[in-house]
Amino acid sequence: MSFIDSVEEIKGVGPKTALALKKYGFETIKDLAYYFPRDFEDYHRATKIKDLKPGKVIVKGKIYNLMVNYVRRRHFNIESGIIYDDTGEIRVVWYNQPYRIKNFKPDTEYYFSGNFDFKFNRYQLTSPTVNLATEVEETKTTFQPIYSTKGSYKSIWFKRLFDEMRSEIAKAPDMLPFEKPGARAEALYNIHFPDNYADVEKAKEYLAYEELFELILAAKLNKNENSKLKAEPLKFVAENTKRFVDSLPFKLTNGQRLAAWDILKDIEKSKPMNRLLQGDVGSGKTVVAAIAIYQAFMAGKQSALLAPTAILATQHAKTLKSLLEPFGVKIELLISATKKKDDLKKRIVNGEVDVVVGTHAIITDDTKFKNLSFAIIDEQHRFGVMQRQKLLMKTGEKAPHLLAMTATPIPRSLQLTIFGDLSVSTISELPKGRTPIKTKLINELSMSEDLYPEMIERMNAGEQIYWICKLIEETGRSEVANVKKEANKLRLQFPNRRIEYLHGRMKPDEKDEIMNRFKDGKIDILVSTTVVEVGVDVPNATTIVVMDAENFGLAQLHQLRGRVGRGEKESKCFLVVNNDKEPSLRLKELEKSTDGFHLAEVDLKLRGPGEIYGQLQHGVLNLKIATLSDTKTISKAQKAAERFISELANNPENMLKYEELNTEIKKYQQLTTLN
Ligand code: ADP
Ligand code: MG
Repeated sequence: MSFIDSVEEIKGVGPKTALALKKYGFETIKDLAYYFPRDFEDYHRATKIKDLKPGKVIVKGKIYNLMVNYVRRRHFNIESGIIYDDTGEIRVVWYNQPYRIKNFKPDTEYYFSGNFDFKFNRYQLTSPTVNLATEVEETKTTFQPIYSTKGSYKSIWFKRLFDEMRSEIAKAPDMLPFEKPGARAEALYNIHFPDNYADVEKAKEYLAYEELFELILAAKLNKNENSKLKAEPLKFVAENTKRFVDSLPFKLTNGQRLAAWDILKDIEKSKPMNRLLQGDVGSGKTVVAAIAIYQAFMAGKQSALLAPTAILATQHAKTLKSLLEPFGVKIELLISATKKKDDLKKRIVNGEVDVVVGTHAIITDDTKFKNLSFAIIDEQHRFGVMQRQKLLMKTGEKAPHLLAMTATPIPRSLQLTIFGDLSVSTISELPKGRTPIKTKLINELSMSEDLYPEMIERMNAGEQIYWICKLIEETGRSEVANVKKEANKLRLQFPNRRIEYLHGRMKPDEKDEIMNRFKDGKIDILVSTTVVEVGVDVPNATTIVVMDAENFGLAQLHQLRGRVGRGEKESKCFLVVNNDKEPSLRLKELEKSTDGFHLAEVDLKLRGPGEIYGQLQHGVLNLKIATLSDTKTISKAQKAAERFISELANNPENMLKYEELNTEIKKYQQLTTLN
């Protein structure tokens, strides 16, 4: 068995398990080796009950008084018990884990590892993991990694698997240049079989470097390759642009004017534009895109606009039609619900359509263009790598000029290091006459005082409300609000109001119908998942309520908040939390600031070292272990990547020598390129 063998080579993994593992992206032993623990448990640090302090704790004790309670109001089970040692007792609680209760043996010692917190007026240990004390102590591994559950595979299952792979991980081949032989194997071994936190830290340092090195090298190689691509020059003609801008129903803001200028000048060149347009929600990015589309149209070329959802694509098509059709520009919407698609696709390839607006249906293989020269991707972080690549492949020899628009800015530190080849335009002001959105954190228990009266007032004034939930329907996590139940709850609370729900699993027609009725003011409260997250524009909606706000990321909440505040009326955002814990810094920052750029920097900082072992979602990037705030490692990786390019990249022999590295980099190359 070797590092790159199939998972089927591992003892105890048959074809069926291998198939299941494949679903989670684990095809080889190597894939598994890069599945890092989400946390570690140090059983030496077990605390006596009388000495417990709030936070993450490990308790060794016995358990009694086990019971299950059904909470009717929220439809979920609470499993509880009392843990005791020779110094005291504490209450322990799980949610919807009935198996817990069945598995405990009386008068037997266990290790409980979880959060000890003040909840619902008392201290309790919440949802701890449980291990038989004898098992933990026999295996002598009192310092243990914890892996995230994948489907039915729990941490303990992964641990057994890793035990079978021990020697392969210890012999992992070297991958990086300029590193001491065996460094990688040592790091991988130490992250899965550490003796203590010092092992983990050392391993982490190496693995973060490895990840950043690959990422940065990929970006640099992209830059080289992009410089070889050609694009169609789309000529700038001042009077055309002026005519179009004069036709707009408003005056452009300074930021819009400057951004448009950057773009119009870029797409004149025969080198493909690779530009990110960042501007906070409501800053008016769409019209900037329209100005550039008009330039492409006047040059006789086609444009495409890709949006992440059908709702948004529909809205963009409508906006672009109202702006551009008076100038003879033919705009068509292409989403999965579009009728007579074949006919439309024929007209696209014949050049009878100038602008295609759509979701990824645009890039399905049988949509061909006559001369696509300008492509816009709205909210680019929602798009996968493959989609971008496909778009590029549609245009044959020449690459389209590419404009990615986002309200989730890439922090400046990143722009320089990782997106070296990306030009950035920023719209930093909102159009005049907007009142900033007020944000308020409230507790679920006080909604009837802090929220409902305000909602009634708003609805009486004819204004509308978004009500955002994490889930669509009842699942295992019943303590989290879901769309269907919340809609019912609100219908009881506000019996004479029009309340509807919306979620991503509804048919596109149904979604459009609901969204259109909301836009037309025929729905008072729209209960929805985050499908309304990006770009939807309903100026009469002035209030947004986000349930279980702690379950959303900072960028996402900021995006959601941008659904309101689109008209002149004062808008409010209520972030509802449902426990007694101190609200997170994330939420407090949102309450204080509406500046998307400030929040992006805060997000980067907050997600630093603290969440290293979780999957670090950074909008555009999915880093496993590195943090983008680790400037020291970034700078080391940058130097090494430069050295690699100047000393090694041009020698074909190295393609073999660094074969694994080359494969890894290909993945990142697709990620960091925009064209
Ligand atoms: P976003 O940047 O979030 O995509 P949109 O392009 O959807 O913003 O624009 C938000 C709203 O602002 C739209 O209704 C648009 O017509 C309006 N708008 C855009 N630019 C201006 C401007 N310069 N003055 C006034 N309103 C504007
Ligand atoms: Mg937008």
